[in-house]
Amino acid sequence: MKHRLKMWARDAWARVVARTFVGRITNRRVPRRLTILTGHCVTSDELNGFLPGDMKIRRETLKALLERVRRDCDLVTVSEGLRRLESGEPGRSMVALTMDDGYKDNRTALLPLLRELDAPATIYVESRPLDGGPVNWSHTYFAILARATPEDLVRGYLEHSRDEATRAKLTAVLATGDRLVYRLKRVLKYEADAADRDRALDAVLAALGEDAAAPLRTLYMSWDDARALAEAGVELGGHTVSHEVLSTLSADEQRREVADGRAAMRRELGVDPVSFAYPFGRAWDWNEDSVAACRDAGFASAATTHAGTNLRGVDRMRLKRWMLDDDVDVDRLVCEARGGYEWLRRFGVDLSE
Ligand SMILES: [Zn+2]
Repeated sequence: MKHRLKMWARDAWARVVARTFVGRITNRRVPRRLTILTGHCVTSDELNGFLPGDMKIRRETLKALLERVRRDCDLVTVSEGLRRLESGEPGRSMVALTMDDGYKDNRTALLPLLRELDAPATIYVESRPLDGGPVNWSHTYFAILARATPEDLVRGYLEHSRDEATRAKLTAVLATGDRLVYRLKRVLKYEADAADRDRALDAVLAALGEDAAAPLRTLYMSWDDARALAEAGVELGGHTVSHEVLSTLSADEQRREVADGRAAMRRELGVDPVSFAYPFGRAWDWNEDSVAACRDAGFASAATTHAGTNLRGVDRMRLKRWMLDDDVDVDRLVCEARGGYEWLRRFGVDLSE
């Protein structure tokens, strides 16, 4: 009940701040801020049709959103937004659009939109798929589910995996029949032996036929695409080599993931990226070793996927971001960008998460 009341208050306050003069007042009263939006793909059926809806936003939705926030805020890259915040110079608050991973549609669908709006963005890329290496296992998982049921996926997994504990957990989840796609993925993400999982999923996908893997080969951009984006003014940031959950790795493995991804960007793009985003980005997906790995590699900021806005003096290694997909609640996002939730936080009320 308490939770429902909080959600009601959060949404009601969002309507007031986003749609009335109250938002103009909070925008003036709350200090200059950088609100960072984060998505993955711009919906493009031939490229990302098999990915789940929460990884995609339609071009029209994104366009309307950027045009709306631009009425109150300047659109910036993450590094430019942080520079302006720390400079202390007066000016409008800012919104930075970020996209994670480095999907092909960022070149084919997002870039034309950015050009049309004359808007900047920051894209955080994983180096391994751009180097032509395998994509992260979660994409293999969804490519399988585009062709097979969760039951078939588990049956195939049991055949190919030697990880007894994970086999037992998947079997137990399957028996409940409840939210299978989400819960099976969670087991694979946090509990499975990574090497065994990757091998088993590859085998299950291969068993579905030659063309089942085709969507994975066109899912990510190339380094040429990345260079074209950089030339158009898009900031490219780091996102590790292979998108593992950093908190599940040793400190040394984390250092390699972070630093080698950055080195690949330097090699291919000729510049040192300064912005980074933690893969998956929730508080349990990274730890103090991840923060140290980013700092030591030379990154000046690192972004999470926890909601909120960023004020001057923010911990740059723990930036907050708003997740975007087609179901994004525009009023809530505008409320955050206009300082509505931050104004309440000053009274000890945090409604944003
Ligand atoms: Zn990612």
